Amino acid sequence: MTNDSFLRELHDPAVPVPEELQSAIAVTSLGRLANSVYNWGRRNSIWPVAFGLACCAIEMIAAAASRYDQARFGMEVLRASPRQADLMIVSGTVTKKMVVPIVRLYNQMAEPKYVLAMGACASGGGPFKEGYNVVAGIDKFVPVDVYVPGCPPTPQALLHGFITLQKKIDGQSLANANSTPWYGRGPSDEVPLPVLGPDIVDPRQAYLLQREAAAVSEEAPAETEELS
Ligand code: SF4
Repeated sequence: MTNDSFLRELHDPAVPVPEELQSAIAVTSLGRLANSVYNWGRRNSIWPVAFGLACCAIEMIAAAASRYDQARFGMEVLRASPRQADLMIVSGTVTKKMVVPIVRLYNQMAEPKYVLAMGACASGGGPFKEGYNVVAGIDKFVPVDVYVPGCPPTPQALLHGFITLQKKIDGQSLANANSTPWYGRGPSDEVPLPVLGPDIVDPRQAYLLQREAAAVSEEAPAETEELS
């Protein structure tokens, strides 16, 4: 957001200011000022937590490098600790093994915090949706604010996701407790760590599967003969 557009947004439309002065002067209320400055500060200093899950992470890294330069959005400080981050970019295939640490990281992030599901895998399972080891979307476990489609999404698509998140932050108001629930209500409830139950296949019982498969293959010719 430029200074010009920031001032225009700050300006209270109930107070007339000549058009030629609107890029230099803003007359506003205390509430509107607090909200605009608060959102302006947050939207331009979102720090993502640094981790990647699969191929989408390469595109996320490309978005952080010099060609696309997510620093232009104030998002270049990828943090190694969830306690210093306010954006989780879920970039890649979410396996049953990884969903537990992901939820744990989410719980360790301080409010306000946001989640961006990057790519088909994080959004809905992607090409591995039917896999025995893959969850069909991270939104089944943590609340997602922005979805970025694609397999993989390009760095430009991720930047568009950042801009979408910034617009969402712009719409949050200190005067509306529903849009900023992290104020005034005490600590938010933790998302429960997922209990996914047993795997569809227990590799320790592979010998049972082999025995069943062998029995089926022995019966198969007899069935064929009956049919003929
Ligand atoms: S969406 Fe495509 S590129 Fe991204 S992690 Fe899944 S398979 Fe890889």
